[in-house]
Amino acid sequence: MWKLLKFCIIAAIILALAWWVAALPGSVTADAGAYRIITPAPVALLLLLAVVGLLIVFLRVLGGLRRAPGQFAGWRSGRRQHAGELALQRGLVAVAAGDAAGARSAAAKARTLLGETAFVQWLSAEAARLSGEGEQTRLAFEKLTQSKEMKFLGHQGLLQESLKGGRVDEAARQAEAAEAAYPGSAWTRGQRLALAVREQHYAAALRLTQEPHERAALAVAAAQMAETPKLALNFAKQAVKAEPASPVALAALARALHGMGKERAARKTLLHGWKIAPHRLLAAAWLAPDATPLERAQAAAQLSAAKPGHMESELLLGETALAAKLTGEARRHAGAALKAGNTDGRAEAILAALEGKPAPAIAPGWRCTACRAQAAEWACACPSCGKLGTLIPAHPDSALMTTENG
Ligand SMILES: [Zn+2]
Repeated sequence: MWKLLKFCIIAAIILALAWWVAALPGSVTADAGAYRIITPAPVALLLLLAVVGLLIVFLRVLGGLRRAPGQFAGWRSGRRQHAGELALQRGLVAVAAGDAAGARSAAAKARTLLGETAFVQWLSAEAARLSGEGEQTRLAFEKLTQSKEMKFLGHQGLLQESLKGGRVDEAARQAEAAEAAYPGSAWTRGQRLALAVREQHYAAALRLTQEPHERAALAVAAAQMAETPKLALNFAKQAVKAEPASPVALAALARALHGMGKERAARKTLLHGWKIAPHRLLAAAWLAPDATPLERAQAAAQLSAAKPGHMESELLLGETALAAKLTGEARRHAGAALKAGNTDGRAEAILAALEGKPAPAIAPGWRCTACRAQAAEWACACPSCGKLGTLIPAHPDSALMTTENG
């Protein structure tokens, strides 16, 4: 409705103007030398309007022609930018796919189109790394560390190269720089942790993780390497705090307490440990190394009383009885351990020794929760996969014994 009204109004105005122009009185006379042109005023006005319109069109075309080279250059640079970005995208995919040749050619193309941008430098570095060109990789990543936005990736690349070349000190420096470039990165923390463990700097490693099983393992390792008994006790306490039921941590605490001369506390810790998680590590800390075999058998009886009938209690009693030549006791406890489900060969070893037979092979006492590898000795990091705090007793709590504790 409104549109129709607008149309009518405009049409009316144009019509009125045309009328007015047509009705203009008089004429326009132009003299040029011997010629004289006389034209009515409405025609002269229309001619003037036509000349002005043509002039405007002419000026516009002229301006467009003058701007054309700039616009052409802009169009060309846009195309280059687009082609360069495509090359970068292809390079990124080639790096992810491990295609060294593809990454290298994409990097070269991107450099031609975009120049030495930080992204191009990163792609060149990754292409060099995939090609196994050590020195070129190092130089490219070093260049990247100059970029404000991408310096983290530069230090990350240099760290990995240093580790590959076995330059641990350099790797540690790069890890620090990576942390400064991008504080709080989980990747950097993991690298620093691995480096600290590799260098056996367990106290430093302890500050880099909050995982209880990792903390417990690192604190035990730190306690074992501590320079003073007081420091050892401090670390052992941290281990037990992280994993209160870990026999490794409890044994470490008992040893640290013993090192400080706190015998009562040490014995209390071991009795408590045996009650909640009987393990041969606790027995080893409990039995005085300089005691006679008979004294050790008596001490074993005291400890095993904390968990009567348990497989580990029976094994401890059997092994100490055997050493003390209490053959009947040894046989009885070995049989009880077998009944309780002992399958690692320790009970059979007692029986074999009693019968003068060769000892059977004892199964490794530890297994990794991450890679399932077995290990004969406990270690802070799994010897197979290197994960921290993943070694647990290979034969966890078995069924309780039916026989009485001796
Ligand atoms: Zn493992």
